[in-house]
Amino acid sequence: MRRKIVAGNWKMNKNLQEGIALAKELNEMLAIDKPNCGVVICTPFIHLASVTPVVDNAIIGVGAENCADKVSGAYTGEVSAEMVASTGAQYVILGHSERRAYYHETVEILAEKVKLALANGLRPIFCIGEVLEEREAGKQNEVVEAQLASVFNLSAEDFGKIILAYEPVWAIGTGKTATPEQAQEIHAHIRSLIAGKYGKEVADNTSILYGGSCKPSNAKELFAKPDVDGGLIGGAALKAADFKGIIDAFK
Ligand code: PEP
Repeated sequence: MRRKIVAGNWKMNKNLQEGIALAKELNEMLAIDKPNCGVVICTPFIHLASVTPVVDNAIIGVGAENCADKVSGAYTGEVSAEMVASTGAQYVILGHSERRAYYHETVEILAEKVKLALANGLRPIFCIGEVLEEREAGKQNEVVEAQLASVFNLSAEDFGKIILAYEPVWAIGTGKTATPEQAQEIHAHIRSLIAGKYGKEVADNTSILYGGSCKPSNAKELFAKPDVDGGLIGGAALKAADFKGIIDAFK
């Protein structure tokens, strides 16, 4: 059966010392009060090599927030999937709406990134979700279907390594959360698309996280929905107590 997961996306926050302190604080909290779900923290690249050794890997997985769409070579400023994996990280967020919007990451570029992440043993946390105008036009189902093309070219075995995150862009960092009913409706739709492509067993085994202004006060209600398997958390992942509050929604 699919895993319940709470993953944090630190984005471009925390300097190295602050990041290490946050990872240590969370690790201490979860060592005392063990989580009932998988926990992942996705950090800026420069934190990875320092954060992986300070967390208990049996409790907290570590991931990057992006990786390059090229293997190696003359791509100044880029960080490859192999480099990410060499830090001990096991996950990578791909397709985040901020990457799609500000860095023009297309379905094709993301398909390359996913392929390279998997080739290097990383599990992609692959984000999909519509913008406000698309939601208002009732186009959310077709938008997520088009975005899934980046992962629907994979073999069933490789697709089984993907964690999906449905993140309505209008809910990210806005304080405006999708209602549990809205989340359930589209998560069920996403699962039906997976079933159509890979069959029911693969669909049932795929973790689909919700992301968008998730906090301790609304996590329990969202995660109680049958097709919501946890959360991808931005702002509330920057304070150990808030992130732990969301993790505790599974208690
Ligand atoms: C995100 O950026 O992945 C996210 C869900 O952000 P927030 O929780 O701050 O809305």
